[in-house]
Amino acid sequence: MDLTFSPEEIAFRDEVRDFMATALPSELRDRMRQGRAISREDLVAWQRILNRRGWATPSWPTSVGGPGWSAVQRHIFMDELHQAPAPEPLSFNVSMLGPVLIQFGTEEQKTRFLPRAANLDDWWAQGFSEPGAGSDLAALRTTAVRDGDHYVVNGQKMWQGMAQNADWMFTLVRTDPDAPKRQMGISFLLIDLRSPGVTIRPIITIDGRHEVNEVFLDDVRVPVENRVGPENDGWTCAKYLLSSERTGIARLGMTKRLIARAKALCPDLPVVEGRRILEQLARLEAGVRVLEVTQLRILAAQVPGQADPRSSILKIKGVELRQTASELLLKASGRRGRAFAYEGHGEAPLEAASNFMTLRAASIYGGATEVQKTILAKSVLGL
Ligand SMILES: Cc1cc2nc3c(=O)[nH]c(=O)nc-3n(C[C@H](O)[C@H](O)[C@H](O)COP(=O)(O)OP(=O)(O)OC[C@H]3O[C@@H](n4cnc5c(N)ncnc54)[C@H](O)[C@@H]3O)c2cc1C
Repeated sequence: MDLTFSPEEIAFRDEVRDFMATALPSELRDRMRQGRAISREDLVAWQRILNRRGWATPSWPTSVGGPGWSAVQRHIFMDELHQAPAPEPLSFNVSMLGPVLIQFGTEEQKTRFLPRAANLDDWWAQGFSEPGAGSDLAALRTTAVRDGDHYVVNGQKMWQGMAQNADWMFTLVRTDPDAPKRQMGISFLLIDLRSPGVTIRPIITIDGRHEVNEVFLDDVRVPVENRVGPENDGWTCAKYLLSSERTGIARLGMTKRLIARAKALCPDLPVVEGRRILEQLARLEAGVRVLEVTQLRILAAQVPGQADPRSSILKIKGVELRQTASELLLKASGRRGRAFAYEGHGEAPLEAASNFMTLRAASIYGGATEVQKTILAKSVLGL
């Protein structure tokens, strides 16, 4: 594949670069550079800036207000955004719920939820995993029992990213406990998190941050009209959503930024150590380049509405590269990088340390690496 961008693509890249240079608030850029937590208000404000420009929903078609970009334009946009560095549009809204509603939602659901998701008027959380149902997602036990024109939902969800900020949660629930296959008894429900019976409890992770939660659902009443797709066919939506999520997790632009920062620190290190890290960074850059080509090939061949198991390649390799980059940045930062303080207790974590800590989880969320390898073995290699 020819990786030289056309003149139109280069003009597009320059347009995005200029936009990031002028529209991204400088205070937000600084916080991103320092690896500090970004507030809900900042994320909402930034997504609205993007939305006003028509750029908050890179993968959506024009028919639902998206920019209708090609695979290459989406790639360029995300690369520039990550290197700015700017926060991504909220992936729960834009890369997970959005594609599912566009593909499987009713016209009413699209009209009601998509514009609000694009503008971050509603913040969505992902309610898939449960205690005992992570890699083996089809083991989920949260039930939804029909009661007239509502479902009554009971169960516990686990690891909901940023649910403390969320207004709504897209959720997998068991609607037929007697289905012949576990996957056949699951439905995809949209739950208003302000409903009575919803309790959200924080989980504090190793980096000292509050990013994930447990969500308890006790007799929560959910209108039947909030089900996406047919009853007991939520697995189709889930597979489609997970393949979109995994494609987005590669985040090569972020890896490039980590590499650039590590490179800039090497001249300050003792010569031998600096050279050793530079060599490792050069190998890593080659890996980024290879995955970039692979990503463009996979994106260009994706068919709307079909789960793409090859997104697991992007997930595994993208995360591996980013984790290695964060490790090299930490090494290149020397003792200063290892200084680490919990938020709210003195200095916020420095980028190197906080990135390193946070990225340990990337090979687990969105489906653990071992599970991705099984998907590739079965669905791509036919083993
Ligand atoms: C930071 C973070 C954010 C998250 N955000 C969300 C979210 O917003 N919403 C949500 O629903 N979930 C979220 N998750 C949950 C995530 O999807 C699960 O943690 C993940 O799917 C793994 O499930 P588990 O934690 O139950 O581990 P387990 O499934 O118990 O896995 C434990 C280990 O066993 C291995 N393993 C399991 N099965 C197999 C197998 N068949 N073959 C080989 N090895 C196997 C795994 O690879 C892993 O190393 C998040 C998780 C983290 C850490």
